[in-house]
Amino acid sequence: MSRHLGFHNLPYMAHRKSMKKGFRFTLMVVGESGLGKSTLIQSLFGNSIATSSAASHSIQPTTTIETVTADIEPFDDPRGVKMKLTVVDTPGFGESIDSSNCWQPIVDFINQKYDQYYEDESGFNRPNIEDNRVHCCLYFINPSCHQLKPLDIKCMQELHKLVNVVPVIAKADTLTDIEKKKLKTRLLNEINENGIQIYTGQIEEEEDSPEIFEIMNAIPMAVVGSTEYHRLAGEKVRGRSYPWGLVQVENKDHCDFLLLKSMLINTHMQDLKDCTQDIHYENFRKKKLKQEHS
Ligand code: GDP
Ligand code: MG
Repeated sequence: MSRHLGFHNLPYMAHRKSMKKGFRFTLMVVGESGLGKSTLIQSLFGNSIATSSAASHSIQPTTTIETVTADIEPFDDPRGVKMKLTVVDTPGFGESIDSSNCWQPIVDFINQKYDQYYEDESGFNRPNIEDNRVHCCLYFINPSCHQLKPLDIKCMQELHKLVNVVPVIAKADTLTDIEKKKLKTRLLNEINENGIQIYTGQIEEEEDSPEIFEIMNAIPMAVVGSTEYHRLAGEKVRGRSYPWGLVQVENKDHCDFLLLKSMLINTHMQDLKDCTQDIHYENFRKKKLKQEHS
């Protein structure tokens, strides 16, 4: 199941283009420590990819920026295209007393990848550049604060200029449906008030698709991750077990995990790449050119 990435659902032209170029996608997770970043990566990509901290069932705190790349084989797809998926797991904020500038290593990492691309672009091997730029940054928000922390605001303000930021509400199993709804509205207001431009996508021709609408409408998605499987009606399901019942990761009625997964590896993957190229990398290039000519 985890290997089935719905990759064949990419629009055909994008699919053709990626066949030629080799499809690379990089996802980064950022936020306070202990919010389930490593667990979510494992829930999303399971057997295909596991950061060392997320390997097996014991998840250790992430202390350095960790990059893991895996070849993802399309499942049962006659047009078979391999994808190289890279996941960048980052150390959580708040481990040290002084958390000012804690986003700097992350900003540096993103800029390094742009720099590399920029260099490659002006070199001899232009047609075969490896795209290692960060295409999406999932920003984890603590569900227990009921609002953004000043550090979240500052971090997202630093990141949104550089990368597609997709905010997610972590550990959504700790909130009721009403609390989730309230928190989503509140967070969107705060994001707006603080001039943070989160990823909204630029998919036009499919604007009226109910799936795209459902996905964009669910942001900031409320997610649940787990490294454990439980038996439910004879089936193995990923979830978190409580005395009052089982929260299923891959159940749309329980959380937005499936919507997020669908967005990342299916409906919005190409668009996240396009926005990286057209908006964020373009900004980087402009700055770079200005520096070079001043
Ligand atoms: P990270 O520091 O953000 O990478 O967080 P980890 O993935 O290491 O998880 C920290 C702790 O939170 C672990 O004990 C996980 O089992 C737990 N955890 C992870 N995801 C969830 C979730 O969705 N809900 C709940 N309640 N706990 C979670
Ligand atoms: Mg971690």
